[in-house]
Amino acid sequence: MPTIFTKIINGDIPGDFVYRDDLVVAFRDINPQARVHILIVPIKEIRNIQEVTAEDEAILGRMLHVARIVAEQESIAESGYRLLINNGADAHQEVFHLHMHLLGGEALGPLLAKR
Ligand code: AMP
Repeated sequence: MPTIFTKIINGDIPGDFVYRDDLVVAFRDINPQARVHILIVPIKEIRNIQEVTAEDEAILGRMLHVARIVAEQESIAESGYRLLINNGADAHQEVFHLHMHLLGGEALGPLLAKR
């Protein structure tokens, strides 16, 4: 079964794309947690960081490079932004297709809420 992100990448489910190349896409999160909230997603289905292999290094590098490009497109390169990967159950990963959140466009506060 394709992941929900593969369905978005393939056009089977709508996605608000802001970037696409041969390895990576970026589209707006459907439930934004900041004024700018974009998901940077490899086209290859990788469950999460624990499934990454040496042959995926180009993909991982591209994801960070695309973060820079998208931040510039969104005019938040100077004001700053947060990059976040939820990995596994304790991190509350909901979609098991590797993705990096790019959050910004406003002051985000500390990374973790006090508990
Ligand atoms: P995570 O908890 O890191 O797995 O985050 C999954 C993210 O995917 C959440 O922020 C969701 O809002 C987002 N999401 C789920 N379905 C869609 C969709 N159809 N289009 C865009 N973003 C989505």
